[in-house]
Amino acid sequence: MHKVAIVGRPNVGKSSLFNRLVGRREAVVADFPGVTRDAKEGLMMYQNHRIILIDTGGLWSGDEWEQAIREKAEWAMEGAQSVVFVTDPREGLTTADYEVADWLRKLGKPVIVAANKIDSPKHETYLAELWGLGFGDPVALSAEHARGLDDLLDRVMEHMPADTEDVPDIAPIRISFIGRPNVGKSSLLNALTGSERVIVADQPGTTRDSVDVEWDYAGQRFVLVDTAGIRKRPDTSIEEYAIERSKTAIERSDVIWLVVNADAIGDHELKLANLAYDSGKPVIVVVNKWDLIPDEDLKSTERELNEKLHHISYAPRVYTSAINEYGIHDMLAEAMKLYEKWQSRVPTSELNRWLGIWTMKQRVPNFHGKPLRMYFMTQVETAPPTFAMFCNRAEFVTRAYEGYLMNRIREDLGMAGVPVRLKWKEKG
Ligand code: GDP
Ligand code: GDP
Repeated sequence: MHKVAIVGRPNVGKSSLFNRLVGRREAVVADFPGVTRDAKEGLMMYQNHRIILIDTGGLWSGDEWEQAIREKAEWAMEGAQSVVFVTDPREGLTTADYEVADWLRKLGKPVIVAANKIDSPKHETYLAELWGLGFGDPVALSAEHARGLDDLLDRVMEHMPADTEDVPDIAPIRISFIGRPNVGKSSLLNALTGSERVIVADQPGTTRDSVDVEWDYAGQRFVLVDTAGIRKRPDTSIEEYAIERSKTAIERSDVIWLVVNADAIGDHELKLANLAYDSGKPVIVVVNKWDLIPDEDLKSTERELNEKLHHISYAPRVYTSAINEYGIHDMLAEAMKLYEKWQSRVPTSELNRWLGIWTMKQRVPNFHGKPLRMYFMTQVETAPPTFAMFCNRAEFVTRAYEGYLMNRIREDLGMAGVPVRLKWKEKG
């Protein structure tokens, strides 16, 4: 996915531009967690390309362009392939503009200068000065009047990496909610789709076909499968029923949202987590009702969650509140990201380059004085990504070493959060 950062001194119109491009509801915009609380991320679609926009505007405090802000901005812009440098030529260039320009030059990413607030052609006389920034031809636009946005995006596309996938006919991502009754699944679905249209009435005694709910987000189609199961609560053993429903739902989906309430994780959740794990499908732990956790308990609650869900520790967490729509964007963004990685394929040459590094960093296990030898690694399947490792003796492999390799595969091959499989094959 293409990533583009929006930078510039305060008041030039960065957030106006961001909101204009991301469009849709502003509520879908998520804050970055942690350090860069004030950088925003949004998704947009242009000519069949998905683009992640990063607005670093909120990082500025007053007029100072300090080291600390620069560092946060660099962190937030990690992975961006190009930068839109927003200016306000009607007001003229300021010292701050030149400071940002110097910083961007050092950063070395391609820069497109956006001349904002060019609300009408008569304002175009202001553009000449912008050449002085040293980034070439500025793009005239008006965030407020939606002028010049396509010109800007065409320039952004010039810096799109050649291997970026075109998505002309985007398959829907099929997702299911699993979780015990009352954790907030229906409420989350309503928050996601922005409507109340998914209330499914209880119909005791009738076996309803599963109901699929569809909606679009950032140019991506989503299908929530088996929605009937969310509301249906027959009298007999709700939890057993929920497990059966979850199995069916998991089979029919690509990605799974396991919804939990942070203060109530029990055997039921662990069973569901195991089902999700066994399916080999990406699972996202959605910790809902986060609004009910008092601030002073957030850290300890997170720690407890980590302990309880350690066997799917690779699965990403998102923290949500269905009632104030917090974290909704994260749920969708994570689902898109994992779905893509889950289907990705790593070239054999790259795998074996990494294998060399991994075996150098961590000594291979010995079995009665004989070392495990790994000759060659290749990806044999996608969805889930499955790797075959050719070795001298499969029984020499220790759990610890296998765990180490799985972690390396996830981290070094960009598969964080994705369930991966590793098969050992003996080769004479
Ligand atoms: P930021 O601090 O760079 O994020 O700037 P904002 O997006 O908050 O915009 C600063 C001010 O400029 C606001 O009062 C906007 O309404 C105004 N503004 C933004 N874009 C335009 C534009 O295209 N034309 C005009 N005339 N004003 C704009
Ligand atoms: P489901 O059975 O999993 O579909 O759960 P529902 O969506 O029916 O929600 C169960 C109850 O929890 C309802 O009373 C909701 O209003 C409430 N609820 C759902 N999400 C949240 C949340 O994020 N915060 C709070 N405080 N209450 C929630």
